[in-house]
Amino acid sequence: MDSDAANDKGILKDEQPSAAASPTATASARSLFIEDLHVYYGAIHALKGLDVEVNQGEIVSIIGSNGAGKSTLLRTISGLVRAREGHIYAYDEEITNLKPHLIVQKGIVHCPEGRRIFTNLSVIENLKLGAYCRTDNEVASDLESVLDIFPRLRERINQNAGTLSGGEQQMLAIGRALMARPKVLLLDEPSLGLAPNLVMEIFKIIKRINDEGTTVLLVEQNAHRALEIATRAYVLETGRIVLQDTGKALLTNPKVREAYLGG
Ligand code: ATP
Repeated sequence: MDSDAANDKGILKDEQPSAAASPTATASARSLFIEDLHVYYGAIHALKGLDVEVNQGEIVSIIGSNGAGKSTLLRTISGLVRAREGHIYAYDEEITNLKPHLIVQKGIVHCPEGRRIFTNLSVIENLKLGAYCRTDNEVASDLESVLDIFPRLRERINQNAGTLSGGEQQMLAIGRALMARPKVLLLDEPSLGLAPNLVMEIFKIIKRINDEGTTVLLVEQNAHRALEIATRAYVLETGRIVLQDTGKALLTNPKVREAYLGG
């Protein structure tokens, strides 16, 4: 974080990243490495020089208010929005502004906000669409693994996706992303609009997916849950990282508590 960023209008302006959050990984352990990323929508400067890294095996959470730039970050990593400046590397290979399907083929898979499932297709058809970029012959066994993670989807396998509950649709969106065999799963607001018991279930599933070997970059407005589950986390304010640390440390940080955790 540069001094300009630290002095930006954000509520965390006096904070500096702690030693615990300093980049310690060797390049080979890095799943994603984002350097000085700038993104614009016309005249709107949505991301203002972001530096973010995600190491193999981590859950990294990005928290921040509405409009901070969280979704823009994920959309830029997955090639849906163009970076004007800066670099994005996946496993040391530059992926900045590659076409989205090429980024999926490199194992970086986006589960977007709002689920974006195909409501006129069945559960199984949606899941199979997640594997459309794959050419290997393990799609059927991966489908079984996904249905093991989401027994509710197995029960509704031939049901039209539009008839699923909100929680089930979220599970389907995550299941479809898993069908692309991600090395890094980009999850945008997976708990949005869900009842508290389903929020808990979704976060347990995210933990399980991570425990089974998938690195996760998670964007969430449910800051409490996002920090609880995170190895490390970043706080984003108006397009800048204003704070980074372990999830545990940010949970007890007074400024984070005041601004994002309801005191
Ligand atoms: P939310 O949680 O509300 O989705 P966010 O942190 O994900 O917020 P972004 O959606 O990334 O924030 O938006 C960052 C900034 O970019 C905001 O000022 C937003 O209004 C602007 N923005 C996002 N998408 C577009 C777009 N398609 N066209 C123009 N401006 C956009």
